[in-house]
Amino acid sequence: MTSTTAISPLHVGHIRSQIPILSREIKGKPLVYLDNAATTQKPQCVVDALCHYYLQANANVHRGIHTLSEEATHAMEQSRHFLADYLGALPEEIIFTKGTTEAINLVASSLAKGKWFRPGGQILLSYLEHHANIVPWQMVAEQHGLEIKVIPVTDQGELDLAACRALISPNTQMVALGHTSNALGTVNPVREIVAWAREVGALSLVDGAQAMGHTRVNMTQLGADFFAFSAHKAFGPTGVGVLYGRANLLDRMPPYQGGGEMITEVRFEKTTYNTLPFKFEAGTPHISGNIVAAEAVKWFTAHAPEAVAQHEQQLLQRATHRLEAIDGLRIIGQAKHKAPVVSFVVEGVHHHDLAIMLDIEGIAVRTGHHCTQPLMERFGITGTTRASFSLYNTLDEVDFFADMLKRAINKLR
Ligand code: PMP
Repeated sequence: MTSTTAISPLHVGHIRSQIPILSREIKGKPLVYLDNAATTQKPQCVVDALCHYYLQANANVHRGIHTLSEEATHAMEQSRHFLADYLGALPEEIIFTKGTTEAINLVASSLAKGKWFRPGGQILLSYLEHHANIVPWQMVAEQHGLEIKVIPVTDQGELDLAACRALISPNTQMVALGHTSNALGTVNPVREIVAWAREVGALSLVDGAQAMGHTRVNMTQLGADFFAFSAHKAFGPTGVGVLYGRANLLDRMPPYQGGGEMITEVRFEKTTYNTLPFKFEAGTPHISGNIVAAEAVKWFTAHAPEAVAQHEQQLLQRATHRLEAIDGLRIIGQAKHKAPVVSFVVEGVHHHDLAIMLDIEGIAVRTGHHCTQPLMERFGITGTTRASFSLYNTLDEVDFFADMLKRAINKLR
């Protein structure tokens, strides 16, 4: 399949040539990978960096006196410094985690352990949230007698901002909100909502899982107290994520897990904890992944953000336009500000059947509830078919997807 680079200043063909898996065939057809919200594909440089670590630099980090251990430690801490700079944060504010899910669990359980929440206090979430930004808060709420409040979503798939404003009160203790919806693509006005949270003395956490692979995010501009993302959704490896937290908060929060690395001194009578960020990094970390997380961000930022945004919006507009023309197809989520995600239902056709038909054509889409069951319920559906695009997708792929979708729908009806 040829890429349609002429209308875009982004060199999509060149970008694609750096990602070997995109040349694969699936069932004899060229792969058309439209499941980027689940995980993005990996550039050669990211895979090379992983290989290099295991083949040339493998050693456990910290505490080691020998050269290899010093090199591994240096590489991991360099990555932390790079990510801190990129996010506009301090190195001690960057905690390596397994991913967004672990980062949110860390914040919820540590704040609860540290008695941040008072009984009767409220945690504000939204209908757009991924289960990873719902369940950890429910667990804490159950244990500590807190109330969960939920920002409603309009029929367009946008947060109801007037309702949101009204829900934020002196009882609000935490506002935990997704930057971008994985299910609908809605980009939320997080800066505004975070500022409202601050006005009433509430903390804020932004789930950035779907933001990092599409846009630059700066902690100073965002103003949130916590921000979480997973490297695998931004061209990096799985099992690696970052929690950003304000140093003055993290300092006062108790550790999440106990073990090696997170201590200063262990005695049976009393153990003292390490300084930030190590206090929150118990055990041997995902060293290779933590090193390579920075590599993936560097690869992404080698492309101008405006060019990426423009290209992704073109993909979104073309997909929306083509799908809207299909009889009986309803796009769920028509927000004004959207990441390149198109979620839809088709009258009389089950989404799983559609995904099977598309897979035969080499097209990878995701179907189901996308770990957003309350959102699906809000729209009175059990799931959608979701095509999610990334900077390496082409307009030709969008057209091929739309053509094959139309054909599959006609066959299934
Ligand atoms: N939040 C959002 C918005 C997501 O899309 C995802 C992954 N689908 C997560 C959280 C959880 O990320 P992970 O599974 O990498 O921890």
